[in-house]
Amino acid sequence: SAIDPVPQSEAELAFEGALRPKSLSEFVGQPNVRKQLQVLLQAAAMQNRTPDHILLAGPPGLGKTTLAMIVAEESGRPLRMSSGPAIQHAGDLAAVLSSLTPGEVLFIDEIHRMARSAEEMLYLAMEDFRIDIMVGKGAGATSIPLDLSPFTLVGATTRSGLLPNPLRDRFGFTANLEFYETHELEQVLLRAATMLDLAVQPPALREIAGRSRGTPRIANRLLRRVRDWALVHGGIADHDAVQAALDLYDVDEDGLDRLDRAVLNAIIDRFDGGPVGLSTLAASVGEEQDTIASVVEPFLVRMGLLSRTPRGRVATAAAWRRAGKAPAAPGAP
Ligand code: ATP
Repeated sequence: SAIDPVPQSEAELAFEGALRPKSLSEFVGQPNVRKQLQVLLQAAAMQNRTPDHILLAGPPGLGKTTLAMIVAEESGRPLRMSSGPAIQHAGDLAAVLSSLTPGEVLFIDEIHRMARSAEEMLYLAMEDFRIDIMVGKGAGATSIPLDLSPFTLVGATTRSGLLPNPLRDRFGFTANLEFYETHELEQVLLRAATMLDLAVQPPALREIAGRSRGTPRIANRLLRRVRDWALVHGGIADHDAVQAALDLYDVDEDGLDRLDRAVLNAIIDRFDGGPVGLSTLAASVGEEQDTIASVVEPFLVRMGLLSRTPRGRVATAAAWRRAGKAPAAPGAP
């Protein structure tokens, strides 16, 4: 959809690359995370050591990849990129780790999707910069210790709850990225519009920001849709153009997209407002559980439309009001 927070094409990836802030001072929003990272990087630089391992947690499109690049850039170290799904065996990880140059920053995106066998290898690598490589099988198997160059691991995850504790504990610092405020997204958009040389009026930028689901990736994408709309209609990118373009792409005033609305409607109409379990909910809207849990729910929770209880997901009073319905009586069948 127009506001799927996951990149959709090569063209979009290139576009994102061009708009990526390259330093902490250019990075908009996340004030706490920025200050925390600043201290962590500066202290490491003063002692001339590799910075501690860093875990970046939060929904897609909030800037985890961007921050990993900034960590490497600000500490003047090379960056190696990998991802959980690419590490399906301990051997995949051993190959990456053993080829790192001293001080390199290793970025593992979606680290919660790495193979279990690799996780255990990573514990030792993070702690002692050492791995044990298994050679042979069965009774004749032996392990050969291998020293690694010191490195900084930057892990990114949309589901920090799925990380095993021993892995989470080995990060010196966890940054929990929050959805952005509208005024912060306005800054992101102003920067993008300037870099792309687009004339977009301030009220139009504000409107796009308010409909961007608190997510810079979506803000930048909607900016492109508005630019297209203005181009095709031979008009200027003003507030009316924004409204028309975003209506066309099914983005509502609060930024909820089709899937967000489908989830809320399912809870209200099919499950009397909940509680309903994640797997049941995902099946009823025909989506992956992971997408519901990492993309849809965090935003609905932040909007005060959904709450997660031990018994399942529940629609809030605000969600019922939004649907224009009266809440089901508590305890009703
Ligand atoms: P994913 O988890 O899908 O990899 P992500 O959280 O790593 O997403 P990024 O790829 O870092 O997100 O960011 C997506 C886009 O949003 C990029 O184009 C980036 O330029 C822009 N962006 C993200 N955060 C900021 C920010 N704080 N200031 C300006 N632009 C940002």
